[in-house]
Amino acid sequence: QAYLERIEAVEAQVRSFITLTPEQALRQAEAADRMLATGEAFPLTGIPMQIKDVMCTAGVRTTCASRMLEDYVPVYNATAVDRLFSQGAVMLGKGNMDEFAMGSSCENSAFHPTFNPWDLGRVPGGSSGGAGASVASGEAVYALGSDTGGSVRQPASLCGVVGLKPSYGTVSRYGLVAFASSLDQIGPVGRSVADCALVLEAIAGHDPRDATSLPLPEANYASGIDRGVEGLRLGVPSEYFVEGIEDGVRRAVEQAIATLESLGASVREVSLPSTKYALACYYIIAPSECSANLARYDGVKYGYSDQQADDMWGAMEQTRRHGFGPEVTRRIMLGTFALSAGYYDAYYLKAQQARTLIRQDFATVFQSVDALVTPTSPVVAFPVGDKTGDPLQMYLIDVCTLPVNIAGLPALSVPCGFSDGLPVGMQLIGPHLSEPTLLQIGHAYE
Ligand code: GLN
Repeated sequence: QAYLERIEAVEAQVRSFITLTPEQALRQAEAADRMLATGEAFPLTGIPMQIKDVMCTAGVRTTCASRMLEDYVPVYNATAVDRLFSQGAVMLGKGNMDEFAMGSSCENSAFHPTFNPWDLGRVPGGSSGGAGASVASGEAVYALGSDTGGSVRQPASLCGVVGLKPSYGTVSRYGLVAFASSLDQIGPVGRSVADCALVLEAIAGHDPRDATSLPLPEANYASGIDRGVEGLRLGVPSEYFVEGIEDGVRRAVEQAIATLESLGASVREVSLPSTKYALACYYIIAPSECSANLARYDGVKYGYSDQQADDMWGAMEQTRRHGFGPEVTRRIMLGTFALSAGYYDAYYLKAQQARTLIRQDFATVFQSVDALVTPTSPVVAFPVGDKTGDPLQMYLIDVCTLPVNIAGLPALSVPCGFSDGLPVGMQLIGPHLSEPTLLQIGHAYE
């Protein structure tokens, strides 16, 4: 009730939800009360949260912030959602996002933008802007987002909350509407590192319905986060502190690094020389996979269908023309081009080779450090409309986060101060499956 009242009070300004589900929330809350009364409760039982509208929820429309899926009501839950529900979680509604998770500001939603609770004239980041803004504004205790190139960490950073992108394969992608299948991962946004650890624990684990889900033993992410940083070796990659990073962001992150050092970690400068290829590599691979994944929206199987045309091909063309917004169309065109005969070797194959170099850089550096510390975003929250006219400027914002997805690694964004009154986030990157170490470092810092 308290969270529904909070939503009632601030949602008209923040606009972090696409769909609100108050009746279902109250029903789930009552069920949670019963679980608590009978002693069957889990850590997240009865805790109200938001789910990004890219994860399927049975009986609740799942739009991906697109006209294409405006009226699409799934018949099943994504595995991550299902796990939360079976542990007594309470869903308040579905979170706003950039259409099909393509964007960095939550301005590409087909319905409405979301605004940053710290300054309503600014963006919350994206694509999981609803997740960042709902947690920062107190509309939800935590949220699930998805991170293909930074979409959990970057909005967390811009909204002054914590965001975790798990190692590829840790959280099932079953029921997560696919954008770029080799990069997508579901992750939590929360007020604290400890909260994110609990949510990860609830959603992680093997799922036979996702062939890329890792068959790992059950992990306990929340216990052990208070082990401190004494003796841990941190690397600061010089390539993440160069052009384009705002002075205030650099200062805040450098200060955070000094704090970690004073807590007992050792810090050294390291180099990841292939970082310079990451942005170009991502913007070939992600659109290529998107062009294949989004081919399914043909007006026949799901969602919007334009029936005005004379024949089948015309209907598909009209459906896609009207169903997709401009950024999604741009990505599909880029990906189709990069994969087409005659260009495949020059673009897609080359990007996959660069991907190998980027992975190797990380593998080499993790032989001598336990984790890397970088800014999450080179900039703080920017004014609404500031970058919508220039897609390349928007792409550049993910320069620090996308190498992590390219290499399938885990990374955590933790608030580390302010620049001109706006939150700054520090990113901790670790080797594959090093979530416990990242959570430990983040918790020691916060
Ligand atoms: N901003 C990046 C993009 O537009 C990453 C998005 C994401 O992580 N979903 O592709």
